[in-house]
Amino acid sequence: MLQIQNCSREVTAISIVDKIETTQNISVEQLQQLLAGQENAYLKKRAAAAARRIYGRSIYIRGLIEFTNYCQNDCFYCGIRRSNQETERYRLTEDEILACCLEGYRLGYRTFVLQGGEDAYFTDDRVCRLISSIKKKFGDCAVTLSIGEKSRASYERYFSAGADRYLLRHETADMKHYQKLHPAEMSLSRRRECLYSLKELGFQVGAGFMVGSPGQTADTLFADLKFLRELQPHMVGIGPFIPQHATPFGREKAGSCEQTLTLLSIVRLLLPHALLPATTALGTLLPKGREAGILAGANVLMPNLSPRSVRRKYTLYDHKLYSGEESAQYTAALKRSIDAIGYEIVTDIGDFKPDINVG
Ligand code: SAH
Repeated sequence: MLQIQNCSREVTAISIVDKIETTQNISVEQLQQLLAGQENAYLKKRAAAAARRIYGRSIYIRGLIEFTNYCQNDCFYCGIRRSNQETERYRLTEDEILACCLEGYRLGYRTFVLQGGEDAYFTDDRVCRLISSIKKKFGDCAVTLSIGEKSRASYERYFSAGADRYLLRHETADMKHYQKLHPAEMSLSRRRECLYSLKELGFQVGAGFMVGSPGQTADTLFADLKFLRELQPHMVGIGPFIPQHATPFGREKAGSCEQTLTLLSIVRLLLPHALLPATTALGTLLPKGREAGILAGANVLMPNLSPRSVRRKYTLYDHKLYSGEESAQYTAALKRSIDAIGYEIVTDIGDFKPDINVG
């Protein structure tokens, strides 16, 4: 009896996955069913196959430079929020940032992701200078910014200075949930506006969300997927929520890795061309999390290029990895572990492959 039940559940899962893949769409009921699934092996298999059809067995790498942990925002989940008195603050100088790029360049990185809190010290002038300096020294590299919400005019200046890409996770596309995760002065409409501006200005844009953030439900996740289908970002960052002890969510439960993988796979089927990182947060919670991410449809890794001395201070969440294969210095070891699952780290610029068939 049990066997028959299991078997029929599997048949349902297969037909759901096939439907999502052919229509590149999903219903809230289908999402609920997949989130309830234990391993979703078929879903992962189809998602990895979809990624291979477009990107082959190539895995792109981006060097992450966490250049400031000062932040004027107070997001309830984030360890570098301004109210966190425990975090020791730092910012890197331009020379230090360029030294990170040089180290990354030598290791084969051709994309640098400058990520930081919303730090008023980094005025538009300073950010633009930084972008130009990097572009001048490393002309064959892409510069990605991840420095939060700015005015359209600022984004325009960054783009003119040479920035190519911008990561700004939407965090959740449900208004009430957004308010639960952020203080009153932040709003989902402003986030959305930023993302649309970035896209209109010509950036390759990354959106995304945490899995298992407090208050998240199948309905809010469905809203995320709907929003992603509407925005059509070039990249989608999805990682589990992990509590940071000195934040208001310090005692909340971490998100589930299985659900993170399920959502990665679903997003791969909904947006087959998207660049999907297997995130550090996933690698933090799950041994071999990066490999699991790739086998569920991810095709990007973002090892850390920040100087060792500051790495432990960029405390978005507790137990964040900072000395193993997640760091760029271990790129050779990383290559071997990606090789071992039948994929290959490539060091070209790793651009989004647009779908010429989509109107
Ligand atoms: N200031 C930048 C960078 C924020 S940190 C910006 O606003 O985009 C980058 C991402 O880390 C965030 O977008 C968030 O999704 C994720 N993050 C923050 N705190 C986290 C936590 N406790 N667990 C998991 N991911 C977290």
